[in-house]
Amino acid sequence: MNLIIFGPPGAGKGTQSNNLINNFDLKQVSTGDLLRSEIKIKTELGKKIESIINDGELVSDDVVNTLIRKIVSDPKNFNRLIFDGYPRTISQVYSLEKMLKKFNQKISIVLNLNVDKDTVSKRANGRVICTRCLRIFNVYLDPPNSINHKCEKKYLEKRIDDNFKTILNRYETYVVKTKPILDYYNKKRILHEIDGSQKIAEIYYKIRGILENIRDWHYVCFLYKFPWKNLTSSIYGSYSRYQYSSR
Ligand code: AMP
Repeated sequence: MNLIIFGPPGAGKGTQSNNLINNFDLKQVSTGDLLRSEIKIKTELGKKIESIINDGELVSDDVVNTLIRKIVSDPKNFNRLIFDGYPRTISQVYSLEKMLKKFNQKISIVLNLNVDKDTVSKRANGRVICTRCLRIFNVYLDPPNSINHKCEKKYLEKRIDDNFKTILNRYETYVVKTKPILDYYNKKRILHEIDGSQKIAEIYYKIRGILENIRDWHYVCFLYKFPWKNLTSSIYGSYSRYQYSSR
């Protein structure tokens, strides 16, 4: 199943996606990570988008849709994607629908991590990421130490757009451009609202429950739709043929 994890910057989308990929057979797609890696390896695209990201504005829909298309079209990723940070505009929503339809897939769950502006700014401002093991820490709320982190300190990095000014701009961009698209998924009855201000483990417990319910439901639907009649008659046919030939 494919799912989308929504929320303002610093809501914990990356942390929860990490938890999910460790426990379910899912792959995380973070457009933010994909764009940052373009900047890091200094591609033409990276040079074009660097100032946009540093200002907390959105990169053009065409750019992110192209990155996403490569991932959705890869058979290895069939029906097992967690979209983190995408879609962020209604035009991206429609592009994603079109792409998924083309590759015979759909979105089954949309999770929205609700967090207020103050919490978001504190979380994003304290965030540090280990570039080696990819774990996300927070210097105020969940600092890395010798027990929870085995990599050397030199791998810990702070994102350039995780500063008070840019975070507030990213939050405003989220409220104006991204939040309205939740309505689209609400009408489709696949939106699940989650209180993102709780502890990481409590949020994960809720998310896991939602995913397990949907997975069980998909399984029931699969059993219901499965052509049992054809299967039983083919087993019966093989059995009769076996009896006949062994006479
Ligand atoms: P994130 O890591 O999701 O917080 O994204 C970091 C930055 O990358 C955002 O502030 C945007 O500038 C850009 N970005 C990430 N995803 C998208 C997207 N789906 N559409 C446009 N810009 C994006």
